Amino acid sequence: MNLIDTIDKVCIEHSESICEIYRNSTLTYGELKKRSDALAKYIISNYGEDKSPIVIYGHKEHEMLISFLACSKSGHAYIPIDTTFPKDRIKDIIESSKPKLFINIGNIDIDNFQGKILSPENLIDIFNKFSGLKPAKAFFIKDNDVYYMLYTSGSTGKPKGVQITYKALKTFIEWFLPYCKTSEDKSVFLNQVSYSFDVSVISIYIGLLLGKTLYVIDKKMTANFKDLFENLAISKVAMWISTPSFAEMCVVDNSFNKTLLPKLEKMFFAGEVLSKKLVSTLYERFGDISIINGYGPTEATVLITAIEVNKDMLHSKDSIPIGYAMSNSKVILVDDTEKEVKEGEKGEIYVIGDNVSIGYYNNEKMTKKHFFITQSEAGIKHGYKTGDLAYKKDCVFYYCGRKDFQIKLNGFRIELEDVENNLRKLDYISNAIVLPVKHEDKVTYIAAFVTLNKHINEKEFKVAMKIKNDVGKLLPSYMIPRKIKILNKFPINTNGKIDRKSLQEDLK
Ligand code: AMP
Repeated sequence: MNLIDTIDKVCIEHSESICEIYRNSTLTYGELKKRSDALAKYIISNYGEDKSPIVIYGHKEHEMLISFLACSKSGHAYIPIDTTFPKDRIKDIIESSKPKLFINIGNIDIDNFQGKILSPENLIDIFNKFSGLKPAKAFFIKDNDVYYMLYTSGSTGKPKGVQITYKALKTFIEWFLPYCKTSEDKSVFLNQVSYSFDVSVISIYIGLLLGKTLYVIDKKMTANFKDLFENLAISKVAMWISTPSFAEMCVVDNSFNKTLLPKLEKMFFAGEVLSKKLVSTLYERFGDISIINGYGPTEATVLITAIEVNKDMLHSKDSIPIGYAMSNSKVILVDDTEKEVKEGEKGEIYVIGDNVSIGYYNNEKMTKKHFFITQSEAGIKHGYKTGDLAYKKDCVFYYCGRKDFQIKLNGFRIELEDVENNLRKLDYISNAIVLPVKHEDKVTYIAAFVTLNKHINEKEFKVAMKIKNDVGKLLPSYMIPRKIKILNKFPINTNGKIDRKSLQEDLK
């Protein structure tokens, strides 16, 4: 498959079709092609064979999509930076990636940038000046070139640039595309996930390849229920793509149902644990839809396992599975000596194949720590140690949490997610996050943050006592959180996941 050529073909064949709707503004496929060609031409005429990465700063503006494609057509990797990123982080990213071009759709003031900054006005000029010109295919990105680079948080405090090659992106898309088919050709895909989070790749590239219309939900809408629900009501979304946290926020309102989204056929979730409670609420509200759970780290290009969730899974003693391994790559579970574990045993997820990143940009130390290389008849392949634990039954993987969420408390080994899962079993708890509280690097106790799905007319400490008592029937006493805080809702980070860091700050 040739991604750029195929998207270009869709743009030509469906030039009048709407590719993206963002509030009152629409972008057609014809405009997407014309403007991305023009911008690619501009980049080629200014940078030629210099293929340094390009920063694209903004939120959900049409120019983001246009710029992504322009970079690929001019042979540059792009680094999407969402407007929610703080300035210091942007500085770190610039320092690490040394871009020569900063496409400033979000119009931020960047001091001391050595390269060129393109403002929204500059972009309009470029679209006009280079209108009708087409970049030569010789400049298009090649298989082993880096297609995009996403900066994820690093344990050192400095973000790490995950390099995803064109080949890796295509490997992911080839496997995952069939999951995204809907009954009508011209249906609508939700475009809500931040471009700094790779789950957004599904909306963008699979959406465009299939000639869909992307309906944008931006951060302003997400912060205002009235605005959000008004937009959802007119969106005609058939394919929902988000983190479970975003859907959990929506289901709080009972009008999040089939009447609001009558065209909804599929809901796809990734990025964090998908709870049985959320799945059963969604089945109740939407009836006959299909729900897909996908799992994967940024380092292995969006997802490496996926499964359609069926109603039987809700009654099983296992959690909702993360699914079957992708068909065109290898996903294995290994023990501490890196030997593959037996069926049913817990191990760390390793992934080996063309979908795996070539490493962190300019960061050999961290690349060596997390990546490895294998050689077989299939050739040289990159491997990545995910740090996630899982077990496998009948080829289906079940997520068991992060390896680094394993803590020791008074000598007892505790998996924080095990405590969370048991808290979630209580019928009045809608979600739970458990965190360690440390003193001088030693865990002294564990604390839980919970949200309730019904109001309990009691003081917070009494509710906390009740929770301790009830979860005490499911867990040994050393695993019962000493402190329990009840929240109305969880803080959410840029990627749309529950913000564990800010909860951890609350415990200080
Ligand atoms: P990111 O690199 O930001 O996409 O985060 C990847 C991490 O999110 C994985 O290593 C998992 O810890 C977690 N994750 C992703 N998808 C799922 C899922 N479906 N269920 C549970 N955890 C997930």
